[in-house]
Amino acid sequence: MQPIIAANYEIVFNTTGYQKLNTLIQANTYTKIFIIVDSNTQELCLPSLLNALETTVVIEVIEIEPGETNKTIETCSGVWDALAALDADRKGLIINLGGGVVTDLGGFVASTFKRGMDFINIPTSLLSMVDASVGGKTGVDLGTLKNLIGIINNPQLVLIDTSFLATLPKNEMRSGLAEMYKHGLIASQEYWEQFSDLTTMTTDDLNQLIYDSIIIKNNVVLEDPTEQNIRKMLNYGHTLGHAIESYCLSNSKKQTLLHGEAIAIGMILESYLSNKQTGLPQEQLENISTILSNMYDPVSFSKDDIHQIIELLKYDKKNTNGKVKFVLLKEIGIGVIDQEIPNDLIHQSFEYYSNLNI
Ligand code: NAD
Repeated sequence: MQPIIAANYEIVFNTTGYQKLNTLIQANTYTKIFIIVDSNTQELCLPSLLNALETTVVIEVIEIEPGETNKTIETCSGVWDALAALDADRKGLIINLGGGVVTDLGGFVASTFKRGMDFINIPTSLLSMVDASVGGKTGVDLGTLKNLIGIINNPQLVLIDTSFLATLPKNEMRSGLAEMYKHGLIASQEYWEQFSDLTTMTTDDLNQLIYDSIIIKNNVVLEDPTEQNIRKMLNYGHTLGHAIESYCLSNSKKQTLLHGEAIAIGMILESYLSNKQTGLPQEQLENISTILSNMYDPVSFSKDDIHQIIELLKYDKKNTNGKVKFVLLKEIGIGVIDQEIPNDLIHQSFEYYSNLNI
């Protein structure tokens, strides 16, 4: 697969990707290489990366606990301490080997330690391949509030090795699919339609869908790197999805949802809002709802849950002057940004969602 050219770095693939990685490391005089992993990617992905690296530079491994609850400033603090104890300097290189938690947090650590070190993302989950590792957004959650702390800063390279997906649990694969669905919904009906029947999908088909998903994301980011306008589109499903994810993270009585699972619910709710507010045709709303509700288990929300989820919308990063701004769809493949929605319509969207599962 041909490299994809991003802002000032490349997204490279599989065997030729490793060649580029080794060339980049050899061309720079890095003092040390620090590989950040979580305990799963340490066991399942690190051995093959170590095997593929051709360098005499000293390699240190820094491990964090897996999962969203560890995407915190406290975990960063532990990694900063480890870097200091291992004598990291600004000429060191950080390689983030993991899912979106590792690439988001590792990118933020690299961007802030000694005011910035080079970093490379090697995503190992589907979600981080198609979305989190690309585009330069790095950061952590503040308590349970999603991604409140962070910085936009690009890696030197992103290397996609789809063979890592062989060990990814099924629910994590489904979580990653949500961001691919999103890319179709905001940018390409043709891409969306390829998801209507996944039963006959081969590994080659999946690799192509991953490649095309990255192209969609990269094109949006190239047009608007600092999210002044069109990049907001990538937040489709995330306004309510992030609030639902935060609510479930902070409430021990609710089941914890994976990022993509929460975003999938957000996309159904926001498709309903799009139908009412920006004219998404009824049959397209039904098509989106059917595909997403067949892929993800239903979640029930009480009146009190919904009230508290709506309260959390005030923390959304797209808000201006205290107003919550949604991304909606005009039709599949065409998004619209900066939409304000009355709360009663949001309540109706939850009612629509719960009726889907009756
Ligand atoms: P994650 O990093 O928690 O990974 C999911 C789980 O899969 C973890 O338990 C991890 O250890 C495990 N795992 C990863 N690779 C594996 C492999 N090859 N084999 C077996 N297990 C493996 O979560 P995620 O879904 O990858 O990413 C979600 C995060 O990404 C969220 O924090 C979200 O906010 C963030 N995100 C960021 C952006 C961005 O633009 N920066 C975009 C979308 C999502």
